[in-house]
Amino acid sequence: MINFTVGPVQSSEAVRAIGAEQVPYFRTAEFSETMLENERLVKKFAHSSDDSRVVFMTSSGSGGMETAIMNTLTKEDKALVVNGGSFGERFVELLTLHEVPFTEIKLEHGKALKPEHLAPYEGQGYTAFLLQKHETSTGVHFDMNLVSDFCKRNSIFQIVDTISTFLTDPFAMEALGVDVMITGSQKALACPPGIAVMILSPRALKRVEKTKCCCQYFDLKLALKNQERGQTPWTPAVGVLRQINARLKEIDAAGGAEAEIARTANLAHYFRNKLKEYNLPFEIISESLSNAVTPLHPTTQSAYEIFLKLKDEYGIWICPNGGDMKETVFRVGHIGYLSETDYDRLIAAFLDLRVKKFI
Ligand SMILES: *Cc1c(COP(=O)(O)O)cnc(C)c1O
Repeated sequence: MINFTVGPVQSSEAVRAIGAEQVPYFRTAEFSETMLENERLVKKFAHSSDDSRVVFMTSSGSGGMETAIMNTLTKEDKALVVNGGSFGERFVELLTLHEVPFTEIKLEHGKALKPEHLAPYEGQGYTAFLLQKHETSTGVHFDMNLVSDFCKRNSIFQIVDTISTFLTDPFAMEALGVDVMITGSQKALACPPGIAVMILSPRALKRVEKTKCCCQYFDLKLALKNQERGQTPWTPAVGVLRQINARLKEIDAAGGAEAEIARTANLAHYFRNKLKEYNLPFEIISESLSNAVTPLHPTTQSAYEIFLKLKDEYGIWICPNGGDMKETVFRVGHIGYLSETDYDRLIAAFLDLRVKKFI
């Protein structure tokens, strides 16, 4: 099997080897050491300020999104949220559920965020801004400098879901003035699912202190208190946290976040150039691509049928879309343990499907 989905993605040998080991007891100095090292490396790779803090929540990435809202926003806030696809929609649902007043900036699928989308909200008393840095469902990478300038000018608290772009595209948390960043273990971290990673700026830590969280399990006050000594309030996904440690050290040894970003960018360019070279019947639907994924609209066959065919007959997994994009869009991921040879196999399969007149 070759997996080109956007998560869970393929893991390195070292990460998989840890998955085969017994899971150790975790209230130990050794595990605390692992957790503190994870915190240090995550902060380094995200370029966050020294006085930022990291927590590791046992949940998928969506748990991190909900944790951010429950611990830093209240009914007193006035939030702006960018909804460019399924993940933006999730923020909208969460703000509704937790009764945080908000305005939605709804973008057509595939469209970038532009200054004119933000202009009407200048000086209007907004207190929080939420967006995906990369809307994975449509493969649109938003302009963080635009968002950051707007938020700084208006003193707005920034919650940024970087779940699919942390380690695939540049991100400088402190310089952008981001207050909460969220990622997950099964995207570019290339580990099994189960852990949401969050970095909190000093301003976010103050908000957490003041906010009454309505959920004990996801209360960041408890998580932060425990992480001071490299621990968690409840039994975490111990095995995944050990795999994250191996992965972070692997990236560090290979040149850090910038080297990993360059490696991913190379794979994305390699694949996109092959698409052009062979003139395959797929259109790129995003106005602003990340390195993480290439979102494609096939012009001659249902996207979902192509996904099924590749999975069942070639052992290749591309990433299907859901909802109203199911038939029209599929995605090819560039994250995880992939090489150019893997893309050669994918392109060969597409060419074979063309010979057979399936596409
Ligand atoms: C994958 C993803 C999520 C979270 O998904 P989970 O299935 O909860 O891990 C959230 N936002 C973005 C942008 C994603 O790519």
